[in-house]
Amino acid sequence: MTSLAISYDDVAQAHERLAGIAHRTPVLRSTTADARTGASLFFKCETLQHIGAFKIRGAYNAVAQFTAAQRAGGVVTFSSGNHGQAIARAAQLLGVHAVVVMPKDAPAMKVAATEGYGGEVVRYDRYAEDPALIIERIVAERGTTFIPPFDHPHVMAGQGTAAKELFEDAGELDMIVTPLGGGGLLSGTATVARYLSPRCEIIGVEPEAGNDGQQSLAQGCIVRIETPKTIADAAQSRSLGQHTFPVLQQLGARVVTATDDQLVETMKFFAARMKLIVEPTGCLGAAAVFNGQLDVRGKRIGIVLSGGNIDLARFAALVGA
Ligand SMILES: *Cc1c(COP(=O)(O)O)cnc(C)c1O
Repeated sequence: MTSLAISYDDVAQAHERLAGIAHRTPVLRSTTADARTGASLFFKCETLQHIGAFKIRGAYNAVAQFTAAQRAGGVVTFSSGNHGQAIARAAQLLGVHAVVVMPKDAPAMKVAATEGYGGEVVRYDRYAEDPALIIERIVAERGTTFIPPFDHPHVMAGQGTAAKELFEDAGELDMIVTPLGGGGLLSGTATVARYLSPRCEIIGVEPEAGNDGQQSLAQGCIVRIETPKTIADAAQSRSLGQHTFPVLQQLGARVVTATDDQLVETMKFFAARMKLIVEPTGCLGAAAVFNGQLDVRGKRIGIVLSGGNIDLARFAALVGA
């Protein structure tokens, strides 16, 4: 076993750093969902987190560990939205300048929120331009520190704190299920699950249109794909990371997929039954559980609802309200 990017101690230290910054979001139950699946489901509601998604956990954990020189140079990142908002907010809390490189077609609400937190937004065409080159230029010109959306040990450790709280609040789990984009959330979750509950199954759920993670674990190497077309805009990553992939591989994570139609049905369920607005990506874990992708009957299942950032008009159009 080669040494992995993060350990449980890194997550525990991140959790201390986040005290008073990240909400300890509620873990909700649903009798209807339990009856429908024959399982005991525990929903970790990161939809109710600051900035509307778990990303503040990793972003704050990363920027809080900057040296004085890094603080002075500021932070830069690219993001389809939630990580950008999280970096902008974390930087604002820590008195650091933030630059966020965002796709031109990112949801308007996410762009406005990033600017609202004092972040400087630089736009690009996600189907034609490589954000990595734009970042490189900003780093070279301004001496800014790049914090990527998922492939960074401090980000991964921060994201794991949601699962730590879920285990603490729900107790022993047979399975923990999270959305999967680049694997920051799932690698942090896997690190916690293996430490606290060695026999717990670790599941990531990708959009069916972009199952690079599933292919990567099957082939034993990082598989790259074109930007997938899916309503799960926070999971449109093109590959797992150099740091996240080995964690998922060595800790035995498994990946299944959900379709856009299943995500819409799941959004409707959460709005109608649990009074929760969950963005399409945030529904990935629950969609897989509700649609029989996983053997959950009779088991205790933790499900991370990763975020709730979606324009109301877009929400209404998707659910047909
Ligand atoms: C970023 C994000 C994901 C995917 O997380 P990764 O760490 O990239 O796997 C899932 N859901 C939401 C709401 C997100 O913002």
